[in-house]
Amino acid sequence: MAHREAGGGGSPFGGSDSTEIGPIVVPASELARRVRELGAEITEDYRDRAPLLVSVLKGAFVFASDLSRAIRLPVEMDFMAISSYGMATKSSGVVRIVKDLDQDLTGRHVLVVEDIVDSGLTLSYLRRSLLARNPASLEVCALLVKDGQQRIPLDLRYVGFHVPADFVVGYGLDVQERYRNLPDLRVFLGEGS
Ligand code: 5GP
Repeated sequence: MAHREAGGGGSPFGGSDSTEIGPIVVPASELARRVRELGAEITEDYRDRAPLLVSVLKGAFVFASDLSRAIRLPVEMDFMAISSYGMATKSSGVVRIVKDLDQDLTGRHVLVVEDIVDSGLTLSYLRRSLLARNPASLEVCALLVKDGQQRIPLDLRYVGFHVPADFVVGYGLDVQERYRNLPDLRVFLGEGS
């Protein structure tokens, strides 16, 4: 469920860009609460097979960091960076691996930690690419899913929040590399959203 707070607009950090940053979609306190819940669920589900958390940079770095510390298992972590072509705020589904994983996935229980699923094209590409590496299992934990935007069916084992289809920033999510450090998740009102 998405949370919106009235009067949450304006600049959380001040400065000349204040008009770009809109209302809070999910406040930091709710993000923290849900991450604790997801961590407890994952701890239970994976209690006899500690997962390899595969985090997708850059957007998922804050979520992966918090989630990993909410899981009470000896998890391992690896990172890959992917890049959509261009700077557009809409995914084309054409994805390039910019940094690949360090670890071999053969026989591993892989849990992909994603920031946000919009069309689902990025995740679909990623899943195909990772499944080809013969993991013992592959599940996805997505912090955010945009309601009604998916063009292909997605099998998401864990979801943090369903949010409206606005372009959002904060908690790791950027627009042209900015706003990743906002503690709340907020609507982006600026150009290109
Ligand atoms: P999809 O391929 O599902 O359409 O898009 C997924 C990727 O697009 C995400 O991993 C993220 O990088 C980017 N993205 C989609 N929606 C948003 C959004 O609202 N805010 C930000 N910052 N990135 C988004």
